[in-house]
Amino acid sequence: MINKIRKGVDVKMTLEPYLREEHEEMRKVIRAFVEKEIKPYVDEWEREGIFPRGLFKRMADAGLLGLHYPEEVGGQGGDYFMGIVMAEELGRVGCGGVPMAIGVQTDMATPPIYKFGTKEQIEKYLKPALKGEKIAAIGITEPNHGSDVQSIETRARRVEDGWIINGRKMFITNGTRADFVTLVARTSDEKGAKGISMFIVDTDLPGFSVSKRLNKVGMRSSDTAELILDNVKVPHENLLGAEGQGFYQIMWQLQGERLNGAAGAIGIAQYIYELALEYAQTRYAFGRPISNFQVISHLLAEMKTEIEACRELTYAVAYKFSRGDVLPKEISIAKLSAAQMAHWVADRALQIFGGHGYIEEYPIARLWRDTRLFRIGGGTDEIMKEIIAGQMGL
Ligand SMILES: Cc1cc2nc3c(=O)[nH]c(=O)nc-3n(C[C@H](O)[C@H](O)[C@H](O)COP(=O)(O)OP(=O)(O)OC[C@H]3O[C@@H](n4cnc5c(N)ncnc54)[C@H](O)[C@@H]3O)c2cc1C
Repeated sequence: MINKIRKGVDVKMTLEPYLREEHEEMRKVIRAFVEKEIKPYVDEWEREGIFPRGLFKRMADAGLLGLHYPEEVGGQGGDYFMGIVMAEELGRVGCGGVPMAIGVQTDMATPPIYKFGTKEQIEKYLKPALKGEKIAAIGITEPNHGSDVQSIETRARRVEDGWIINGRKMFITNGTRADFVTLVARTSDEKGAKGISMFIVDTDLPGFSVSKRLNKVGMRSSDTAELILDNVKVPHENLLGAEGQGFYQIMWQLQGERLNGAAGAIGIAQYIYELALEYAQTRYAFGRPISNFQVISHLLAEMKTEIEACRELTYAVAYKFSRGDVLPKEISIAKLSAAQMAHWVADRALQIFGGHGYIEEYPIARLWRDTRLFRIGGGTDEIMKEIIAGQMGL
């Protein structure tokens, strides 16, 4: 798809410092796909608590899965901003669940395989994931430890022909049907970061099970599960990267996850803002559109200000990240501000919709619920502030 677009546009033409015409063309392609292949079915998928597996394949067949991965590993050969445009546009599907599941597939569970994986791991896991043939999940959080990754208890013990893993993983997106989990486990009794490693765990191995499918406040079209690993034996070749490096690998992974999350939050906020603007211009009270009331027009102006400020910031940070810069403070600032902004925008939009905003037939109720997760998933607001304060030397 990207090559097709490139043939038709002058790639040098700059629309913004970060986006070229090919990104805007891709935006149109994604938007058309969303309108036809996702949006009409979202209500049904929300009711069912899951969407069809086939969506991953349809996206891949349309050339839309793994936009920013090189072609030799099964991606579409685009730059980092293709992924940002994708995250923003998925924000327009009318729910947060489907974008979250796709984001896990392309920007959370698979980047460590691309970055740290062997040729064989790329062939066996990354390529099928980017073709939509295998579903990926990322397993960091546990029932007793979320923010504090260094304290995870899931334990992998080395045996002659592999590793035996025991433990539980909690709140795992795509967890009920993933084909593999990119999983963090403790590989030594040493406390803290040093004894942690990453594995790729096939979910059809004996001892692997889904203990619970979790019922959530929002993000309902995405399945979330608790996973149990009871003496799951994985071969040596499924250790991802070097033994003992898992904590650093997952900290690297979280940088990309947070930036992707920020872009997704901006995309959904933009969509919510457009819904609120349209409603405000067509809903009458006291003989005039409610957008004529200064309190409402100023609220819309404030919403737009917050969205644009977050977008500019996220693009600037994404640009530096794509060049290989290490930016824990900047990425945390982008994630924190976009996450808070998205739920703030949803809350103001609900207010503009009045009573209708609180009713399920209108899209705002769901988006209000779904945007709440941005402030928790991929690192909570408080953890973002901890990182920022730490980088400030406090
Ligand atoms: C719908 C959903 C999908 C998810 N998907 C995944 C997934 O696919 N894979 C995965 O691994 N995880 C996933 N998660 C887990 C998510 O990343 C964690 O919930 C999150 O990191 C917070 O961890 P916790 O829930 O254990 O909260 P805790 O870490 O127990 O935190 C509880 C509270 O204490 C605060 N707190 C903790 N430490 C500090 C501190 N040092 N300073 C100040 N405040 C602190 C937190 O900010 C929070 O307010 C998902 C969660 C949800 C709800």
